[in-house]
Amino acid sequence: MDQKRASNQEVRKINRLNTIRSILACERISQRELAQKLDVSWPTVLQNVKELAALGLVQEVGSFESTGGRKAKALAPNRDAHLAVGLDITQKHIGLVLTNLSGDLIQYTRKKLAFSLEEAYFQTVASEILAFVASANYPKERILGLGVSLPGIVDVKADILTYSHALDLRDTPLEEFRRHMPFPCVFINDANAAGFAELRGQDGPRSTLYLSLSNSVGGAILTGGQLYTGNHLRAGEFGHTTLIPDGRPCYCGKLGCVDSYCSAKRLAELANGSLELFFDRLRAGDPEIKTAWLEYLNWLAIVVNNLEMSFDCDVIVGGYVGSFLGEHVQLFRSILAARNTFDQNADYFKPCKYKYEAAALGASLLQIENFLESL
Ligand SMILES: [Zn+2]
Repeated sequence: MDQKRASNQEVRKINRLNTIRSILACERISQRELAQKLDVSWPTVLQNVKELAALGLVQEVGSFESTGGRKAKALAPNRDAHLAVGLDITQKHIGLVLTNLSGDLIQYTRKKLAFSLEEAYFQTVASEILAFVASANYPKERILGLGVSLPGIVDVKADILTYSHALDLRDTPLEEFRRHMPFPCVFINDANAAGFAELRGQDGPRSTLYLSLSNSVGGAILTGGQLYTGNHLRAGEFGHTTLIPDGRPCYCGKLGCVDSYCSAKRLAELANGSLELFFDRLRAGDPEIKTAWLEYLNWLAIVVNNLEMSFDCDVIVGGYVGSFLGEHVQLFRSILAARNTFDQNADYFKPCKYKYEAAALGASLLQIENFLESL
């Protein structure tokens, strides 16, 4: 009996979650359309809409034109009823995003701020967050919380940042970050967060790999809409797979890792440390830069092809370099296709949608998801 009651409650919860997700995904929708879309009864939809309206998440906004009979009421989401902030902490910068319940990016900023575990650093971050929220003209009370993206291995269960090369930290309690923040926090690895952001709005639970090419190389394995984290939370560390046996030294201490060939630093160091300048020179036709870029794309193609052969799924390439790949999709696909054992094309490769904001956005989406699932 208890089990039955529990499962009825579960079903009601899932129905309510699906209802709010469907309403959040459109501008306006009628109750009839909702019932059809969700394949649930009319009274179930009515009950869910009533509950969601009482929570201020859904509102009536007039009615649809009638084709005979009564006009159908139009429902719309109240997307800005609650918001979440995403914070991306890197070695030299912080990124901040503000996101609404639909996961739309309302505002983004990135500031130079060198990381340190000192009190002063966190005080600056906390005041930047409050100023950022205030500048968007939303009351602080609407903020559900803060999603924090960290460049390292995040063990949420043990509540520690196990390792971060970029921040030079080992086994650091997440409380060190949390205690200074003005909102409740959830934490996530940066590449996993960026992968989540890239998957937003994708139809169905397709499996996808995300490869992040920033100052270090990382990635995420997303299957059925969920992260695959591995036995030690290290899944997706593509940067430390071997590209060239006994090749260039990697910061991890080994030789020939993907990171030593494909990180954004490798390109930036050919243009006074500036990735933007590297691509400016490439556009201007600098022959040395062009040669370096082709060599880079060939290395990258080995990595991406290996990933596709191993996982048989879409590969989204993001991070700092990924944000410039959009201009070179055809060229890169042709290099990839030449390596492909099974297909003539490389349509599985997708350039990323987001640039520097991906990790902060993905972190904020965690707070939105937690809220929706708590309904
Ligand atoms: Zn390495």
